[in-house]
Amino acid sequence: MTDTNTPLLKVENLQVEFKTGDGLVRAVNNLNFELNQGDVLGIVGESGSGKSQTVLSLMGLLADNGKSSGSVLYHGREILNLPKNELNQIRGEKISMIFQDPMTCLNPYISIAKQMAEVLILHKGMSFAEARLESIRMLDAVRIPDAAKRVDMYSHEFSGGMRQRVMIAMALLCKPDLLIADEPTTALDVTVQAQILDLMRNLKDDFDTSIILITHDLGVVAGVCDDVMVMYGGQVMEHAPLNEIFYRPQHPYTEGLLKSIPRVDESEHNRLPTIPGNPPNLLYLPEGCPFYARCEYRLEKCETERPQTQQINSQHEKACHLNDIATAEKTTEILV
Ligand code: SF4
Repeated sequence: MTDTNTPLLKVENLQVEFKTGDGLVRAVNNLNFELNQGDVLGIVGESGSGKSQTVLSLMGLLADNGKSSGSVLYHGREILNLPKNELNQIRGEKISMIFQDPMTCLNPYISIAKQMAEVLILHKGMSFAEARLESIRMLDAVRIPDAAKRVDMYSHEFSGGMRQRVMIAMALLCKPDLLIADEPTTALDVTVQAQILDLMRNLKDDFDTSIILITHDLGVVAGVCDDVMVMYGGQVMEHAPLNEIFYRPQHPYTEGLLKSIPRVDESEHNRLPTIPGNPPNLLYLPEGCPFYARCEYRLEKCETERPQTQQINSQHEKACHLNDIATAEKTTEILV
């Protein structure tokens, strides 16, 4: 029996490294977080922040030159680096993942019915007829119109938004505890993006599915996530409930991301602020704060002392030497 106090997922001191011809790339450093049943966590950061490698390591899907260490407890059971056959029992059934581009995941030569049924036949031992019916029910649940007819169609006969709905339906077939969505709306136009996010919001209520939503766009997590974890240079910069992140950000990087979200009440002629510079090369991470070169608030010690994670309150943590960003003075020069 599952202990109700045991988190669905508990990640401790997760490290992900890749051996490359140029040296060791430290993609994720000392990552810690917990997720309870029904929680929706947003992991936000630029390319190379370590957000995707974090979830790929949880799923045992790192590239061959990658290695992860630390601990990932799923319902209290260690799943990091489990043998493939044991991981396969969890992947797809208990933890599912959807990616940015459904076209790379859906087979264009096989009907949606066959692709979806295969999951249920494999994991639930259903007959094809039962699996097809269940697939139609799930396509209905993700609001695919005329699901009974469309289930026999092929992926190229669906629009981009509809294909992403099919992927979500497929990921939910076995009623997983956890759905991991890696940039699920990036390839879609804004209207369809809003529909998919709305759908994900409803999934939590309809299926009590926990969700980890990975995105480079802080605007995407608004209204969907309960908590937000902001990553940079393979490390967590700030982790807090959604409202704290949006209304009381405490890390300069989070503040920069928030300022770069387009606002409907701003004149279209105003330039959208950006964070100057580029993320650090993970082969040569700086000794001090990874955000040092791009930080408008940096202090002298930030160059050499890596900030440790500190609790602001029981739910809000940051890795920054500043006491309070609201009263901190800005350094004008940015090292780019
Ligand atoms: Fe900026 Fe220093 Fe905080 Fe890093 S530790 S974000 S450089 S103030």
